[in-house]
Amino acid sequence: MDAYRQRSLHQTAVEQFQRAAELIDIEERYREILTHPKNEVIVNFPVQMDDGRWRMFRGYRIQHNNVLGPYKGGIRFHPDVDLDEVKALAAWMTFKCALVGLPLGGAKGGVTVDPNEHSDDELERIVRRFTHALGNNIGPEHDIPAPDVGTNSRMMDWIMDTFANLSGPANRHQVKGVVTGKSVACGGSLGREEATGQGVLYTLRHWCGETGERLDQLSIAVQGFGNVGGHFARLAHDVGCRVITVSDHTGTVTAEKGLDIPELWSWAREHGGIAGFAESAYGLNAEEVSTEAIFTTPVDVFVPAALENQITAPRAVSLDCRLVVEAANGPTTPEGESILERRGIEVIPDVLANAGGVIVSYFEWLQNKSARAWSAEDVDERLRTMLWAANDAVVSARCELACTRREAAYAVALRRLQEVYGSRGIFP
Ligand code: NAD
Repeated sequence: MDAYRQRSLHQTAVEQFQRAAELIDIEERYREILTHPKNEVIVNFPVQMDDGRWRMFRGYRIQHNNVLGPYKGGIRFHPDVDLDEVKALAAWMTFKCALVGLPLGGAKGGVTVDPNEHSDDELERIVRRFTHALGNNIGPEHDIPAPDVGTNSRMMDWIMDTFANLSGPANRHQVKGVVTGKSVACGGSLGREEATGQGVLYTLRHWCGETGERLDQLSIAVQGFGNVGGHFARLAHDVGCRVITVSDHTGTVTAEKGLDIPELWSWAREHGGIAGFAESAYGLNAEEVSTEAIFTTPVDVFVPAALENQITAPRAVSLDCRLVVEAANGPTTPEGESILERRGIEVIPDVLANAGGVIVSYFEWLQNKSARAWSAEDVDERLRTMLWAANDAVVSARCELACTRREAAYAVALRRLQEVYGSRGIFP
């Protein structure tokens, strides 16, 4: 097993915020509080399979911190989901919400399951039983899940419907905001589906403004072609970026002059992945390459948008780019990050780069509370304003503290958390 797999992901998350805490003198008691999640809910629940047999599943909901507002964070369906991973993801949500100025705390959930191995009917039963097992551990004013790896708007609709049915007739419609990332028909927000990818692009645009680079001259490689990576690649292609290499769990394709992203998008949605695209009639100029090629293609910007621990030390040595924009959560190992730093490759951290998803989730929650729907333009404009304000705050903290962008992002978040703890106190 590689060294990076043996390291606890939660330990990495703790070390990241502790490094920033050193720079700005965060009081010890707040550091101690933020080192541990407030609640760790683990449920084991039975689900009947299509062939009549029953299988037990394990699900998690980790509530890291709620000093700023209700717990908020996605639900992941993946075979590698475990307590350590969900604890790390929950902690990152606390810092992300604090950084972008949302009145929300941090949480994350997951079920250890491979969604690709189950029929739609089985998935529906798993989602509904998990929601039932969580019971009142979630709620629109308490803890609000959202989609993450392996989950989507349909599953969020099932969570909402199950929770509403358990809430009694008088409350059925008040509890729509128990989950965000729902389909628009079921109370979701326009713009939520693509919000995380859109936010990654806004952050890249902000970097261009800061450095004098031209967005439409950038070449990009994207690891992951799901909700985040797929929408990001599509939107980046639309504004003139050359998306040269894209990978997902089925394969990696490249085209020196830039991939035809709309064709790749249609192919991947129809075939469940990008494998086979290069050999198809739609993959003109595209070439299927090895999995590792995503980490060696010469590009201006590398965008990891799949899973954590992808930029390991050897891959950090081989990456041929000037900037890494972390669309995924935790894609860079600490060893990988030190190498990138030594090589002068800038990293825009996950808590900033992928915050567009939780920002538009917050907008969805507000719309559900007021029973009003905002226009797509309204959502987009507010998303851009919030994200750019957070980017501005990180850039000035970085100048003030002479540190990395990640440390600066955590410094902004920690100052906000410390201020609120300082005013509210710790009771009892
Ligand atoms: P998704 O399930 O929609 O897509 C995941 C993608 O990663 C798929 O294309 C899959 O094929 C690919 N993948 C998996 N293993 C891979 C591998 N070894 N190599 C290459 N590709 C691989 O998930 P998503 O919602 O797009 O989430 C991706 C990342 O973004 C995660 O880290 C998630 O926590 C983070 N994120 C998601 C959201 C959101 O709104 N969905 C918000 C913030 C952050």
